[in-house]
Amino acid sequence: MLKKYKQFLREFDKKINKYFESQSEYLCCKEGCSGCCEIGDYPFTQLEMMYLMEGFRSLPQNLQIEVRNNLLNIKKSRVSTHLYYKCPFLINNRCSVYEHRGITCRTFGLAYLVDKNTVKIPECVHEGLCYSKVSDNGMLTVEPVKENLSLLEIVNGKLAKKYKLEFGMSRSLIDWFP
Ligand code: SF4
Ligand code: SF4
Repeated sequence: MLKKYKQFLREFDKKINKYFESQSEYLCCKEGCSGCCEIGDYPFTQLEMMYLMEGFRSLPQNLQIEVRNNLLNIKKSRVSTHLYYKCPFLINNRCSVYEHRGITCRTFGLAYLVDKNTVKIPECVHEGLCYSKVSDNGMLTVEPVKENLSLLEIVNGKLAKKYKLEFGMSRSLIDWFP
């Protein structure tokens, strides 16, 4: 299943890269900017987790220890399952498992249509980052990506069907760790 998932990701990334190109004038993403990994609940399906952990296992020992410590600290300090947290894989403002990151991670920064009347705008719009110059009171003044890029849509979408992928259940990243 991981082999098929990697093929799926290659095709998915190509599509997403085109969206990033078409929206580039509204985006502020650059190396070292990690706001989207600093606070969130990071939904991951079972299949994405398997791939993420493949990336984790290929990390040098010291980074694995850092990630493990981050996980433990989040687990200790998280008093409610509804609380958002910093992704444990974020080390020195960089994703330590970038090639293995999840589907949602790959869409960070893009504004997209959720349905005919609803647009999902990245949270960093409030920090003066993505789309901040082309939004007015939470409304975009330009066309967003015209595809629903939410995780649920993607794992049930055409491309996932083409590769006959079974993603399994989705949970907040931290809840995959006992
Ligand atoms: S896996 Fe990487 S890209 Fe995804 S939230 Fe964590 S640090 Fe960010
Ligand atoms: S989506 Fe926003 S917070 Fe994330 S890297 Fe891009 S500019 Fe930074």
